[in-house]
Amino acid sequence: MVSANQHLIIHNGRGMLLDPGGHKVYSKLFSAMPEFLPPSSLDYLFLSHQDPDIVASINGWLMVTDAEAYMSAIWRRFVAHFGVDGSVMDRMKTIPDEGMRLDLNGCELLLIPAHFLHSAGNFHVYDPIAKILYSGDLGAALVDYRYVEDFDAHTEQMIGFHNRYMASSTACRLWADMVRNLDIDIIAPQHGAIFRGKAMCNQFIDWVAALEPGAEAMQEAFQLPA
Ligand code: FE
Repeated sequence: MVSANQHLIIHNGRGMLLDPGGHKVYSKLFSAMPEFLPPSSLDYLFLSHQDPDIVASINGWLMVTDAEAYMSAIWRRFVAHFGVDGSVMDRMKTIPDEGMRLDLNGCELLLIPAHFLHSAGNFHVYDPIAKILYSGDLGAALVDYRYVEDFDAHTEQMIGFHNRYMASSTACRLWADMVRNLDIDIIAPQHGAIFRGKAMCNQFIDWVAALEPGAEAMQEAFQLPA
């Protein structure tokens, strides 16, 4: 329905799976994963926000691994409605609004705030060794190429989604100011193509900072239907 990227961070033989996705990819992902890491070596599942294409398969992953799932504190009890079994609820962990650091077998990952981009409780992951920022739905595009080559042309594939789904221009600017402090080589979203190289990553951050999406842009929509 909506194609999605699943990302796996491996450090010293242990792993974090980011936004494992819905039921349609669960069995494919589970059978493809041992090429890189046995599922039994997963320490963490990361859920950037609460959408079905992010979390719907979470019960399966909690059932077949010993991993802990990390998600926004405001979404845990709602995510449980995707059929999370009572026996694994204690491995549904929460991230406070201010974010946190998480040790992956010696690699300190940053779970950084990206609230209202687009979900009210939303996080990104920064890997300081690979210098990759995983940006969830921010930077999403429905395209069939893997890497962005022509940034300006690619913005046309992103703008409609971002104008409608990103909630706040204030959040866009605050996020941009925050991530400019990170040393980023790659920005990897959950949908679509990856931004490679510091120059293009900076281009993307500047593009986000200038967005005027969300409620402010939709004021004319708040009318009673004719
Ligand atoms: Fe989403």
